[in-house]
Amino acid sequence: MLSFYPDGERGMMPNSFSRTNPIRRYPMNLLEVQSLSKAYGQGETAVHALKNVSFSVPKGEYVAVVGESGSGKSTLLNMVGALDTPTSGKVLIDGKDTFSMKEKQLTVFRRRNIGFIFQSFNLIPELTVEQNIIFPVLLDYRKPDKRYLEELLTVLNLKERRRHLPSQLSGGQQQRVAIARALVSNSSIIVLDEPITNLDAKLREQMLEEIREIQRKSGTTVLYITHDQQSALQLCDRMAIMEPDGSLCQLGTDEDIILHPANRFTFEFIGVSNFIPVEVAGSAITLRPGQKDFPWADGKLPEGTDTSKKLELGVRPNDIVFDKDSSLRVTVKRSVFLGSEYDYFVELGGRELRIQQNTLDAAKYGVMREGQETGIRLLNYRFYPEKEVSA
Ligand code: ADP
Ligand code: MG
Repeated sequence: MLSFYPDGERGMMPNSFSRTNPIRRYPMNLLEVQSLSKAYGQGETAVHALKNVSFSVPKGEYVAVVGESGSGKSTLLNMVGALDTPTSGKVLIDGKDTFSMKEKQLTVFRRRNIGFIFQSFNLIPELTVEQNIIFPVLLDYRKPDKRYLEELLTVLNLKERRRHLPSQLSGGQQQRVAIARALVSNSSIIVLDEPITNLDAKLREQMLEEIREIQRKSGTTVLYITHDQQSALQLCDRMAIMEPDGSLCQLGTDEDIILHPANRFTFEFIGVSNFIPVEVAGSAITLRPGQKDFPWADGKLPEGTDTSKKLELGVRPNDIVFDKDSSLRVTVKRSVFLGSEYDYFVELGGRELRIQQNTLDAAKYGVMREGQETGIRLLNYRFYPEKEVSA
């Protein structure tokens, strides 16, 4: 049988390969992406997949990349992983400019410093679980750290499967092997491209948490693409939001993004939002939901708001409160009890709004009944130019 250990001795894996390189000075940021652009094709038919994207990630950060399909997420990841070259811009990993390296040098650098987990797990069908995991280390003529390997097998629940072939594993288990393989080389950075789409929601969450746990221990920097914003918000240190045109819209913590969305795109993309058209005349604001206008005495326009364009007010469901004395009159259309909160659909002058009320407030101020007429007040609202309807 083929042996995958360089010294050919199965049971003799010296513990000499250290997971952490002994003396290594990390620059401030493990990853720096500088003015990165990528166009596929040329001339009029060129697709500008990535537009002037810049950001940096300190060592040990767990960054999620989110955005609509086609917004350049995979393109960005391929550039960071040095799998493809940009049209312009730079990527520095650990201070090293990857695109200035010669092909051979880059191959070695990639193998030692960058771990990949792709949608398709790219496992080698003829190799067992264990062999698949240590394969990149062996490719590099290094010896796997046996203790770390055992730890990974344990954490990822693969111990009983170590001698199985990929074809004998479930999708979830195959994915775990891919994760272990990416981790075992002690890469400085691991990139994951929607690695969890094949798993059901529960497994997916568990997986992300496991990666998170291992990542915390190893201090690896992780950049992962996901379409599951909710779990991303819970797990990542920061989230990068890509706009549909391939530019980076915002990179921030959950708090930044929820409380200070950079623009309308982020506000709408993350979480649930309500929009109401408004009319501004001097300091007077009128809400114009559609069928009826509501002069809005409480409303304030932030200083510097550009009023030359038509504006809309954006407000989150949990930033609308019931107030029976308010002149903004609504009718409750539907009320759904969700355990920790009530979800209401109300109608304001012909427009449907979503309102969330936590159960404590509902107990304190009363639960709204379907069909009930009452008033609302708006908190933490913001103004955005009305969205242009594309032809
Ligand atoms: P995402 O991962 O966010 O869905 P991608 O990075 O895959 O987006 O793609 C961004 C844009 O670039 C899309 O419009 C896509 O069609 C285009 N694109 C991606 N790869 C190629 C390619 N190899 N050749 C031409 N166009 C591409
Ligand atoms: Mg993609």
